[in-house]
Amino acid sequence: MNTYDYIIIGAGAAGLQLAEALGKDPFFKQKSILLLDKDAKQTNDRTWCFWEKGQGDFDEILFKEWKSIFFAGKKLNEEYHIAPYTYKMIKGVDFYARYLKKISGYKNLNFLQEEVISVEEKEHFQVVKTTNNTYSASKVFNSIYDFKEPLKQQKYPVLQQHFIGWFVKTDKSVFNENTATFMDFSIPQKGNTRFMYVLPFSSTEGLVEYTLFSKSLLEKREYEEAIKTYLSDNLGVENYQITETEKGSIPMTSYNFAQKNTDNMLYIGTAGGWSKASTGYTFMNTTKKVKKLVLHLKANEPLNKFYKKDKFWFYDLLLLDVISKNNAKGGSIFESLFKKRKPQLIFKFLDEETSYFEDFKFISTPSPLPFIKALLGRIWNGF
Ligand SMILES: Cc1cc2nc3c(=O)[nH]c(=O)nc-3n(C[C@H](O)[C@H](O)[C@H](O)COP(=O)(O)OP(=O)(O)OC[C@H]3O[C@@H](n4cnc5c(N)ncnc54)[C@H](O)[C@@H]3O)c2cc1C
Repeated sequence: MNTYDYIIIGAGAAGLQLAEALGKDPFFKQKSILLLDKDAKQTNDRTWCFWEKGQGDFDEILFKEWKSIFFAGKKLNEEYHIAPYTYKMIKGVDFYARYLKKISGYKNLNFLQEEVISVEEKEHFQVVKTTNNTYSASKVFNSIYDFKEPLKQQKYPVLQQHFIGWFVKTDKSVFNENTATFMDFSIPQKGNTRFMYVLPFSSTEGLVEYTLFSKSLLEKREYEEAIKTYLSDNLGVENYQITETEKGSIPMTSYNFAQKNTDNMLYIGTAGGWSKASTGYTFMNTTKKVKKLVLHLKANEPLNKFYKKDKFWFYDLLLLDVISKNNAKGGSIFESLFKKRKPQLIFKFLDEETSYFEDFKFISTPSPLPFIKALLGRIWNGF
């Protein structure tokens, strides 16, 4: 009864997308699949945004989309039309409801709310213990992220994209609901890479998020003070209601999360290094990785052969070397990119879809000296 072909640990962005992809594919019809999460996934614990060309898999649960974005730096205040891309937002709670409903229709898939306390590798199977039960499976996909893991090493810097966001309702029109503020670096940098991220839902409703790319988290009140100041000084609003809040901390590192994978155990999602190291964007990357993983499973390849380093890993590594050494540099790097390059090229690069010629156009844009130093440092100390 407690033996499965596959166990997926965590019904978040990665676990649910993987469960749904396996459940709907007739190839896996004979495979018994167990999905475990300690949480019932009934609350709105986050919002996800991503850019996409045309229609996509999540359109049925879109909360809002924008056809233009705004970027501000020290000397730049610009709105960009991003066609053929659209910047899209979905709410966590809508995603969980939709995907849990989809997977409840697959007979070979079982979702249980149980907390996993250990995963043990035996010779030909994996043992997953929860607070209530013990299960075994041929393959395990694990999305439990241990933030201490990358900090055990020194070779690759570990930054975090950390933020607190307030969903606010204002007493007057302050937002331009057609344009999402992708990054506003006009705020004090205080020696770090700090920006405001604003998602407007109507002229009086929006999410205002204070975000940093840096090593350490701040005290809660520091994020909140910054949001209050931005609302009053930049948006000119004093009277508002906070209807919801969100917070997060996403790892930004080129550390090789895949080194813990084995033939039959694969870390997925953030735990598997699926968060883009230079930006923290994870959601769409997860969608792409899940599609590749399904092909990998069909080819019956060992799970530890799934991960491959590529040129984008290397570009992210250099950027992180630069901004971890001089944490205030991020704002000027992004500003020069938005000043000189089209957002479409920026999105394409961040989607890891650019050619070598486009890479060159992109990476030669910011001032090259810090990157040359970082490259020499890597040649000296190893990649
Ligand atoms: C507030 C917030 C906003 C974000 N916004 C964006 C965005 O706009 N765009 C973007 O691309 N990325 C965004 N991210 C980053 C990333 O997309 C998310 O963190 C994403 O949810 C990562 O997916 P995951 O499956 O790896 O982890 P999760 O979605 O966190 O899923 C992990 C699951 O494992 C479960 N779990 C943990 N421990 C156990 C255990 N011991 N036993 C059983 N279950 C367990 C958890 O309950 C959870 O459901 C955001 C992150 C946060 C926190």
